[in-house]
Amino acid sequence: MYLERCDIMDQNLKRSIMLEHYQNPKNKGLVEDETYLKINMNNESCIDEINLMVKLDKGIIKDIKFDGEACAICISSTSIMTDTLIGKDIETAKKIIQNYYNMIEEKAYDENILEQAAVYNDISKQPNRKKCALLSWWGIEKAIKK
Ligand code: ZN
Repeated sequence: MYLERCDIMDQNLKRSIMLEHYQNPKNKGLVEDETYLKINMNNESCIDEINLMVKLDKGIIKDIKFDGEACAICISSTSIMTDTLIGKDIETAKKIIQNYYNMIEEKAYDENILEQAAVYNDISKQPNRKKCALLSWWGIEKAIKK
């Protein structure tokens, strides 16, 4: 689903997108494949532990897989992250990641490139949950910087 104007996105719609990604996460389940980079991310302030696998090829994010134990915000934001970034080139992905950070930190951002990730646009109202929404994004950033 592509959301054009996320600032007017209704709370119920946001909640149902998050819930859908929590109940039926995309790209969950790791693979036995040496061509993937592996990243482990922990959030001490919650129960979150996420393992990411990323396949890069010629500057494109070909695939992302994840598993782990985590809260609803962390699982749904990880699923949305994979859905948003798979198929993107690294430069575009970096731009999306930066805009996502800006949104979480209440700085100016371009909502149009965030796609579904814009559902977390009011997570800043729950400061103790920010890390849950950021964890896998930090992980993917680490992977593509390698
Ligand atoms: Zn969490």
